[in-house]
Amino acid sequence: MDELQYGTRDKRGNYTPNEPAGTAPLFVFPPQPAALLRWLPHYFLPYNALFFLSALAWWAWVIPPVEVMQTLQWGWVLRLFAINAVAVFLWYGAFELHLYIRRAQGTRFKYNAKFPADAPSNVFWFKSQNIDNFARGMLSGVPIWTGIQVLVLWAFANGYAPWLSWSDNWLWLAFLCLIVPVIHEFHFFCIHRLIHTPFLYKWVHSVHHNSINPSPWSSLSMHPVEHLLYLATMAYHLVIPSHPLIALYQLHVAGFGAVPGHVGFDKVELTDETALDSHAYIHYLHHKYFEVNYGDGLIPIDKWLGTFHDGSKDGDARMKARYAAKKARLNAKEDAA
Ligand SMILES: [Zn+2]
Ligand SMILES: [Zn+2]
Repeated sequence: MDELQYGTRDKRGNYTPNEPAGTAPLFVFPPQPAALLRWLPHYFLPYNALFFLSALAWWAWVIPPVEVMQTLQWGWVLRLFAINAVAVFLWYGAFELHLYIRRAQGTRFKYNAKFPADAPSNVFWFKSQNIDNFARGMLSGVPIWTGIQVLVLWAFANGYAPWLSWSDNWLWLAFLCLIVPVIHEFHFFCIHRLIHTPFLYKWVHSVHHNSINPSPWSSLSMHPVEHLLYLATMAYHLVIPSHPLIALYQLHVAGFGAVPGHVGFDKVELTDETALDSHAYIHYLHHKYFEVNYGDGLIPIDKWLGTFHDGSKDGDARMKARYAAKKARLNAKEDAA
């Protein structure tokens, strides 16, 4: 496919899509029913539908019977850990293999023309973004992912959380399934904004931001504290009357759903003429500019707070004006002191 039909590439090799990044027409006033209808299929397809199916598969084939989950024992916990690790390896690895190892579409639609493997850096373990990101995801990401999963399932199994039955509460549970990505966005924005405060940024979140040019393994490349905060979204279902299947779906949206935002390509080519929109641009801009786009645009909180960057020249000018105002405020404070 010809990327220049859909965007431009500057002298430094940065690719900018023609269409500025937009937020979902969900929380807008006045409501936009036509835009909402056009957008709705993207809400489900492909990712959220896929993560719901994966949660169903875990519920059917991976999660042990309730009696087993009532006690914390190594057998079922380690089995769950192993299956999570294999699933993460396959899902993240599939994007990595296709786009970054085989480089099947070269740099077409790639925001940053460089591949991380070609740019060794001292900020990473073994100077390699790939090894560093992979190791952090596997050594701390998957264990913490599994730990949260085990504790939430154990709480459900022991009656510590309100577990609703589908037959009596199908309408509420269906609604809850529908808003799982919205809960995710709310949670992600809150913890993400929190870890961008100076102290937590320095000690926790800077690990994730070492990858200025993110690739699939960057998705779970975090400090353990960030893993804990990020994946804790599953625990919302211990408070909201829910069902463990929906809690699993919530966890999969966070865990498996981190990939699309870090894939580094605006489109993933499927055939010579068709491609899948990655929806990665908003978060790519966050990795590039740091203090913009704390959320992924499902709830337009960044727009409300003035931190949204749509990738356009206007968006750039707005960001620079905001940074200049912040600097002036800090200087004024210093002069006063
Ligand atoms: Zn990120
Ligand atoms: Zn960040």
